[in-house]
Amino acid sequence: MKRVFLETYGCQMNVADSETMAGVLEAAGMTLTERPEDADAILLNTCAIREHAEQRVLGRLGEFARLKRHRPGLVVGAAGCMAQHLRKRLLDHSAVLDLVVGPDGYRDLPELLRRAAGEPVAHVRLDRDETYGDLEPRRGPGVRAWITVQRGCDKFCTYCVVPYTRGRERSLPLETLIEQVRRAVASGYREVVFLGQTVNSYHDGAHDFADLLRATDGVEGLLRIRYTSPHPSDMSDRVIAAMAECEKVMPQVHLPLQSASDPVLSAMDRTYTLEEYTNVVRRLRAAIPGIALSTDIIVGFPGESAEDFERTASFMREVRYDSAFLFKYSARPDTKAWRWTETVTEEAKGERLTRLIDQQQRISGEIHDGLVGSEVEVLVEGRARRDAGQLFGKSAHFKTVVFADDGTPPGALRRLRVVGSTPLTLFGASLARSAPPLVRITSA
Ligand code: SAM
Ligand code: SF4
Repeated sequence: MKRVFLETYGCQMNVADSETMAGVLEAAGMTLTERPEDADAILLNTCAIREHAEQRVLGRLGEFARLKRHRPGLVVGAAGCMAQHLRKRLLDHSAVLDLVVGPDGYRDLPELLRRAAGEPVAHVRLDRDETYGDLEPRRGPGVRAWITVQRGCDKFCTYCVVPYTRGRERSLPLETLIEQVRRAVASGYREVVFLGQTVNSYHDGAHDFADLLRATDGVEGLLRIRYTSPHPSDMSDRVIAAMAECEKVMPQVHLPLQSASDPVLSAMDRTYTLEEYTNVVRRLRAAIPGIALSTDIIVGFPGESAEDFERTASFMREVRYDSAFLFKYSARPDTKAWRWTETVTEEAKGERLTRLIDQQQRISGEIHDGLVGSEVEVLVEGRARRDAGQLFGKSAHFKTVVFADDGTPPGALRRLRVVGSTPLTLFGASLARSAPPLVRITSA
């Protein structure tokens, strides 16, 4: 067993987990391949958050079943949340799978893959102590390093499968994390993004999330710090003060709301009311003027009435988020809400989703238009995907900025004037060009 093809689905934490897996596999003498056809083993790092995510993986397994017909020795494995969620059922019901491994089994991956070449193997034990803190991830190229500071979740929102697939919340020691940040900087990364399901509830027994931000701010060579996703109920004054006072912590936060209706928030067990959430937004904006805010919204949760939905739509207009991830509710086995009767039809969910997408697109566009003429500092990432003659990077507020290639290397900071915008992208030019454009650019 030498060559492994690893494919990742789902959230940023899965991407970070795949980097840990890649590190474990390479340390065992295995290599990663670019194409499944070249591999001795195929591993899918899966997501279970919505049914659609699981359907995509099942579709992909169908493709690998065809590949396996020509190469019977090929080992196919499912890792991550969906593997944990469906456990042995996945192994029993799939003709193609040889290995099922949950989020706490990655340390043993090389051995599990070898065993799976002989007989079907399942490793789906959740481990309260596993943090992978001592393992060296194999990160891809780029300027941004993702660092998992906390695993699992204790919140048990009634719609969410994560506490069942990733187990109880546990934090890595602050010293371990600062060492990981230093190593990432030594490898050339300029920005770190701390990851956790409720990242601001981070606590290693002696230090909280504010301590972690302040300690990271002192790491030499690091330019920027971000984190995702904080939980509104854990947004303490200490964390907000650390954000405001630490020079490297960027003025941007993703603050999942889910719904702006108190009865819906209560049925979701989100642990905050709309007033409490609004207070968090107020405190953040007072401490960090101009902070960029984004959010997650679920439409069509059981019991969400037309008025509940209108409340969410109007609250989003009041807050004016910079961007939003908008989802249709998807009932997930194991969760509390799974047993509840769905009251919103697929059609109505679709209509609500479309309305929020259109509304958010308009608001994001207006916010971006308002930035035309202003100055931004961009951490340059590399060539723009759509135009090789252009570079791109992120502003402090996490806006993608595209500008003419002037030779600025990835990892450098570049000050630019915003000269055009779309709802997704800003266009920058050298500061000498001060006049804003005469027309608004409407497509990227
Ligand atoms: N831990 C984060 C938090 O509490 O905000 C979010 C983690 S989850 C991977 C990302 C988003 O997926 C959630 O904020 C929620 O909006 C969405 N989500 C989770 N379960 C869902 C479900 N059953 N149906 C639709 N969306 C869901
Ligand atoms: Fe899921 Fe809620 Fe935990 Fe976020 S806080 S991971 S939505 S249970």
